[in-house]
Amino acid sequence: MNLTNIGTVKEILSRHGFSFSKGLGQNFIINPDICPRIAEGGNAKEGFGVLEIGTGIGVLTAELAKRADKVAAVEIDTRLLPILDETLAEFSNVKIFNEDVMKCDLHKIIREEFAGLKAAVCANLPYYITSPVIMLLLESRLPVESITVMVQKEAAQRLCAKVGSRESGAITVGVNYYGTVKQLFSVSRGSFMPSPNVDSAVIRIDPNPVPRLSEEEEKFFFKVVKCGFSQRRKTAAKALSTQAGIAKEVIYEALRSVGLPEAARLEQLSMDELIAFSAQLRKNTL
Ligand code: SAM
Repeated sequence: MNLTNIGTVKEILSRHGFSFSKGLGQNFIINPDICPRIAEGGNAKEGFGVLEIGTGIGVLTAELAKRADKVAAVEIDTRLLPILDETLAEFSNVKIFNEDVMKCDLHKIIREEFAGLKAAVCANLPYYITSPVIMLLLESRLPVESITVMVQKEAAQRLCAKVGSRESGAITVGVNYYGTVKQLFSVSRGSFMPSPNVDSAVIRIDPNPVPRLSEEEEKFFFKVVKCGFSQRRKTAAKALSTQAGIAKEVIYEALRSVGLPEAARLEQLSMDELIAFSAQLRKNTL
């Protein structure tokens, strides 16, 4: 079944009485070039199980199922289930979980569905939970080789920004702490039905196989990052003394020890500088 043929899609949707939910971020891909590129850029291949988040009518799901050994897909909208029964009927390697991705046990799905396989995530994410989903996957250390997702263009720019640059934010630091991120390609708004008001881009995150910090150091690191980015214009010393109650002299000492000026602002530090500073500060406050 050609799920990028507008006539076919409209016919299926109207036969099932389906109407798009804006609240669930339902913009389905209708450009035939996009899904094969996501699948091929996102490890959908032999030896892999692919976790998809948000199937829509299954246009990406089908491309994943053609290439990977197994596809497990989480879709919150129960109205899509009878449609998926029809559109994915030819694939025996797809299992749909009618659940909310923020609440279901993704580790369990990967363990049970992808035994003996490597795992990857591929998705055209609902825009209203882009950052929470990405951070959930990374923070829970989901055992995946790659996370390849379509997000709105502005989100892609922020996620792929250089840590320390003007475009970077707390999410940039978060993602770059857990892995390496790059943009694969951009996608115009006309590639979707209905067409959203902004363009999109596909990014790929490859999580680090080994964590950069211990659990305790990591907790402290994110506390520092949170303080720094909630008061972006303030110096590290000012932000951390008011928000975390650390004496300014202790902060200056940590900055000096890692070769940074006392007036440094956290938002301007590179990833390595942030990690070195937070590790030193933690040592000084223990
Ligand atoms: N993959 C399809 C495509 O590319 O055409 C659909 C992508 S659409 C942008 C996002 C999908 O995520 C929708 O099908 C929507 O119902 C689903 N969705 C929204 N919130 C969700 C959640 N919390 N958990 C699981 N799926 C969700």
